[in-house]
Amino acid sequence: MNVALMGPPGSGKGTQATRLAAATGYEHLSTGAMLRSEIEMGTDLGGNVAGLVSAGALVPDDLIIELVGPRALVASERGGYILDGYPRSIQQAEAVLASPAPPDLVIAIEVPDSVLIGRILARAAIEGRADDTPEIVALRLRVFEETTRPVLELFATRGLLQTVDADSAPDLVAAAILDAVHRRLRAQD
Ligand code: ADP
Repeated sequence: MNVALMGPPGSGKGTQATRLAAATGYEHLSTGAMLRSEIEMGTDLGGNVAGLVSAGALVPDDLIIELVGPRALVASERGGYILDGYPRSIQQAEAVLASPAPPDLVIAIEVPDSVLIGRILARAAIEGRADDTPEIVALRLRVFEETTRPVLELFATRGLLQTVDADSAPDLVAAAILDAVHRRLRAQD
């Protein structure tokens, strides 16, 4: 089964995607991790996107669609994917829906903004991500509301969206997500 996990920065979607991958065997595809590794390796792609990522802006749609599309297809053929950080714009969502391996389920992780900011700044102290300063976090949250929120609405109209409240312990959130996946699997039988 193919799952897209969506949520604002700090919602814990990366952590939850890792856990869901361990529980299901579906392949975890994190666009943020892919981009950071391209930047670290100093590839052409990394060089092109480094400024945008560190500023908290989205990288161009065509570039990210080309990066994730083929990997999602391969993962889907192997049993399923978990998209983490993709799609994030209407154009990306339309590309995913039109692809031969669209998501069977989209899970939106919802957390109040006040909680998000605290979590991200705590993480910044540990991971030292360049895009985790207060100003850039505020911009990333705004990008989510303006550009990514409409994607959730699109998936809702397709009957693909399930919302999970993530203002609770990671174990409870993981259980709620796994439950949503199992319900969708049963509904597909
Ligand atoms: P977060 O969800 O905490 O903002 P991610 O690790 O998912 O962090 O993404 C980090 C950055 O990578 C984003 O701010 C953006 O610059 C870039 N990025 C990741 N995924 C996408 C995407 N689907 N489209 C455009 N840019 C992306």
